[in-house]
Formats: sequence, C-alpha cells, structure tokens
Amino acid sequence: MPLTNSLDLTLKTLPIGVTLVAVSKTRSVNEILELYNAGQRNFGENKVQELLQKQEVLPKDIQWHLIGHLQKNKVKYIVPFIYMIHSVDSLDLLKVIQKEAEKNNRTISVLLEIKIAVEDTKYGLSFENASFILSEVKSGKFPNIKIKGFMGMASFSDNKEQIKNEFSSLSSFYLQNKEEHNLDTLSMGMSNDYPIAIECGSNMVRIGTKLFGARNYTNI
Ligand SMILES: *Cc1c(COP(=O)(O)O)cnc(C)c1O
Repeated sequence: MPLTNSLDLTLKTLPIGVTLVAVSKTRSVNEILELYNAGQRNFGENKVQELLQKQEVLPKDIQWHLIGHLQKNKVKYIVPFIYMIHSVDSLDLLKVIQKEAEKNNRTISVLLEIKIAVEDTKYGLSFENASFILSEVKSGKFPNIKIKGFMGMASFSDNKEQIKNEFSSLSSFYLQNKEEHNLDTLSMGMSNDYPIAIECGSNMVRIGTKLFGARNYTNI
C-alpha cells in the first residue's frame, strides 16, 4: 500500500484533537518525504545520530520529536531545532537541556517520561519524581523549559485490561496536574495499543509500524 494511503487510513482512526507523530526511525529520507508531501509535519526519531542526519536534508518546517532515551552529552546537537523532547527522565537531563536552550535562546517543549509498565523497563520517572520536577520547574529554575505533559509506554502485552490500567494511571496523573502546571500534551499509544491509549485520554500518538510497515533494522 502506498504510504499516503496508510497515512490517510491512520488519520481516519484519530479523533479531532489527537496529534499523529509519525515514527520514522529506520525509514529513509524518501519515505519521510512521501508523508511530508501528503501533509504530515510531526515526525519522531529515537536516536540522535539518525535524527541529525535526516534533519539536515529534510524540509526545515518538519516538527521533530525525540522519543527515545536521550544522553546528556547529545542534548547540544538537537536543542537548536528540536520541536519536542518526549523522553525527559531525570532532573539532571533537564538541567542540561536548560543550559543548552539558554545558549540557543530557545524555549524547549518537553514531556516527562513516566514509567507505567509493570514489566522491567529501563527508563521513566515515578509519579513522585515527576511531581518533584514539576515543582522545580514551577519555581522558576528552568526559564527555557516548558513542560507540556507526559509520555508513557504500556507493557508489551496482549492483556488489554493491563494496558488500559497502565494508560489510565498516567491519564489520571495528567489530569491531576494539568491545571496547575498548564499541561496540554499526553503522549501515549503506539501502533499496537493506540486505540486503547486514546480511550484513556491520550492526545498524541506515536505510530511507526502501522504507517510504514514492519521495521527492518538491517537497513540502517
Ligand atoms: C518505535 C517507537 C514507537 C512506534 O512504535 P510502532 O510500534 O512502530 O508504532 C513509539 N514510541 C517510541 C518511544 C518508540 O521507540
């Protein structure tokens, strides 16, 4: 199926107000351009190196989302152009983003990545640590950071109830903090679980496989 068709089909499944981030990791510049030419502007990558290579040659009005783990020493490369960082999982990382953002005279939109899966995942904050970071930012120590909301990944599982519980827990936390911290983004849902995520209140989905087909990691 042409990519523009699968983009149309995917967009038809999204309610108004839900933003599609096309996850383009491992995909070629030409594949990304095909979706760009069909009107898609939000793209997500999980590796800094790959993101830099693509950003350099692709249209400058693409809104790039960094969705994978971010190492502190790589922050400086993406801050000049990044649209949103979904994977802030420590106060130390936020401090580095603040420093680089100030140098670049930019305000960077970030999401705090929260660990909601019961399975052992490497990254993500507890609700408690996320609350602490929110209060630190509110106190004015991070003038070049805008926390827009949260990102979470559910367990890789067939158990819909479990996935639903995990997404619901993050959705409740989002609603508890939305007013006080002026949040507007809840990034939950990938190809296999995004309808559940939307049911639970997600307003940003990160979809790769459903748009582009299965990934082939040997291509890169
Ligand atoms: C790869 C990836 C996705 C997209 O996964 P698909 O199953 O291909 O839709 C979403 N979020 C993150 C953080 C990813 O690394």
